[in-house]
Amino acid sequence: MIGFEVLVRDGAARRGRLSTAHGAVETPAFMPVGTAGTVKAMTPEGLAATGARIVLGNTYHLMLRPGAERIAGLGGLHRFMNWPYVILTDSGGFQVMSLAARRTIAEVGVTFRSHLDGGLYELTPERSIAIQHQLGADITMALDECTPYPSPHEVVESSMELSMRWAERSRRAFVERPGHGIFGIVQGGVHPDLRLRSAAKLIGVGFDGYAIGGLAIGEGQATTFAVLDATVPALPEHRPRYLMGVGKPADLVGAVARGIDMFDCVLPTRSGRTAQAFTRRGVVNLRNARHADDPSPLDPECPCPACTGYSRAYLHHLSRAGEILGSMLLTAHNLQYYADLMAAMRRAIEAGSLAAFAAPFESEG
Ligand SMILES: [Zn+2]
Repeated sequence: MIGFEVLVRDGAARRGRLSTAHGAVETPAFMPVGTAGTVKAMTPEGLAATGARIVLGNTYHLMLRPGAERIAGLGGLHRFMNWPYVILTDSGGFQVMSLAARRTIAEVGVTFRSHLDGGLYELTPERSIAIQHQLGADITMALDECTPYPSPHEVVESSMELSMRWAERSRRAFVERPGHGIFGIVQGGVHPDLRLRSAAKLIGVGFDGYAIGGLAIGEGQATTFAVLDATVPALPEHRPRYLMGVGKPADLVGAVARGIDMFDCVLPTRSGRTAQAFTRRGVVNLRNARHADDPSPLDPECPCPACTGYSRAYLHHLSRAGEILGSMLLTAHNLQYYADLMAAMRRAIEAGSLAAFAAPFESEG
């Protein structure tokens, strides 16, 4: 069981606090993605300096390499990656669907070939929960099937129903420990009737938190928001809500305004490695030649190492030269931007001014 307290409400938005075995997380919160036991190009110290107190670990990658048993033998994922704060692990389902070869989905689970060495693996709800236990996740995710978009209603329906049976098995396999919890995942594509049935089923099973999955896979922001408008009011008020795989700054702001508490996305870290920087004045591409002689900082209001120590000209040079430091500095900057955006939204909710804060983001979708 993990704790969650809603401290302040502003419209549908909530300012809350998660309490776990590895400390508290102020919400709304963004979770940097730590794919293979590392948030790419970041030290844990640098990550904590941005204000992040929760990261996401990928079950699929860790089960293949170095293996969950090995990580458990070395003291668990927190110790292995030297991250003393909160870890949420995904179920492995999403990466199995997107990365693994020769997948076979059956009632019992999914069998697949590793994208690394072709080895044969089986991932069932029980196996996914056991792996996440071995990793020592504070928050475990139920195994679900990710339905491709677009798919016909009847395909989305049978996929959602399989995910709900897997959710029940995941919940049963989860070992209760103080400060540890399991989240269920609402599926149902872009269909409000299926989303509501999925939410009702999960609430009947009873989870510590509720995620909304299967979005941000090409449906567009307006459709994402319409699904949230239909789904979020059906979720319990007193439990955290996590929108998976989202998103751009404007997506986060719109989802927080609709009552979402947690997010994860590879966008800030992946963009940092391709010289794309998120700033208070929009996205900046540091490969662009106009930065070559610019002595000014990337974002004068940003407290990150890239903005306080270096010029746009230097960051441009690093990216053009393919230097690792360029990826490190821009990843740190982007994660600082995301952390600051979430902190600014938390303050706006406390002040009852989230609508005014959100207005400039509404044209960016
Ligand atoms: Zn910065």
